[in-house]
Amino acid sequence: MALKLTDLKTEVHNDWCPGCGDFGIEASLKMALTEMPVDINKVALFSGIGCSSKLVHFTNASGIHTLHGRVLGYAQGAKLANPDLEVIAVGGDGDGLGIGVGHFVHAGRRNIDMAYIIHDNGVYGLTKGQAAPTLHLGMQTKSLPEPNINSNIDPITLALASGFTFIARSYAYNTRHLKEMIKKAVAHKGFALIDALQPCPTYNDINTKEWYGGEDRIDPATKRPMPRTYDLESTGYNGRVTANMSDDDVGKNLLQVIEKSREWGDKIPIGVFYQNETVPIYEERINERTPTYLKEPPARQQLAKNDGKSVVNLDNLSRGLLFESLVLAQYPGSRSR
Ligand code: SF4
Ligand code: MG
Repeated sequence: MALKLTDLKTEVHNDWCPGCGDFGIEASLKMALTEMPVDINKVALFSGIGCSSKLVHFTNASGIHTLHGRVLGYAQGAKLANPDLEVIAVGGDGDGLGIGVGHFVHAGRRNIDMAYIIHDNGVYGLTKGQAAPTLHLGMQTKSLPEPNINSNIDPITLALASGFTFIARSYAYNTRHLKEMIKKAVAHKGFALIDALQPCPTYNDINTKEWYGGEDRIDPATKRPMPRTYDLESTGYNGRVTANMSDDDVGKNLLQVIEKSREWGDKIPIGVFYQNETVPIYEERINERTPTYLKEPPARQQLAKNDGKSVVNLDNLSRGLLFESLVLAQYPGSRSR
């Protein structure tokens, strides 16, 4: 039976600030889950630390609120232990691209079949609005005593360089668009990233809902605001890499991702920047080496007998680890001391 939005509701008190983009991301994720053929018992949500990472408490699915910057470590481990799970990781830009950036880069190299949504608001909201890695050089949001003197990390180009095989961007208040991106990310075979732009009305007073909506840019003809975000696909852009493409065409495809990712300010593209399903997923690479892996992944292996004892006989291992075996055998003289 198809999931309903009410099935995903929890009774946990939501303490996000009014108007926070996190609400849009939560709503989009829930709408996407109700529109996909997923078994909610197989959905596993993982989050890092930050305002955004409370999302797992507000969604009635299995979830783990992990450690700062470690969401991808947990999420990848769960997926590899049980490839049947539909693993979705969420976290902030500070979490994923600051302390967690090493996990981000190496996740790209592996190409595990899962999705990761970065809540990108340019600040560390939970800790009072310090500059996060996506805040642009020279910006001074309201918690900063001086303008930011660091250049920003662009999640799109970093994901491309790291090997992510699905890279998209969306906007938290465009829930219809974000929902579609989430559905595509989950359906993608490989590691999928969504850079979800989101206002933080409490600490980022520059990239606000009004700013994204272009309320400072009134079209002289229509007298209406000109939104800054625009849909990439509506311009004919196609970021898909296919098996029969020449190396030259693949190269051109990569270049257009970089070109589009550099657009910022008055024109901000949203949509699928890049998709490549020709790269084998990590699970298949493991299975090539260990052909029983996909049939009997760790989560399906028996750990204990009916009497509760481990099915693994550790006797030989324990014997090998005895002090005598490891140390005394090498240094027989030490026995007498
Ligand atoms: Fe949202 Fe910012 Fe409030 Fe955190 S501090 S809940 S990111 S508005
Ligand atoms: Mg943030």
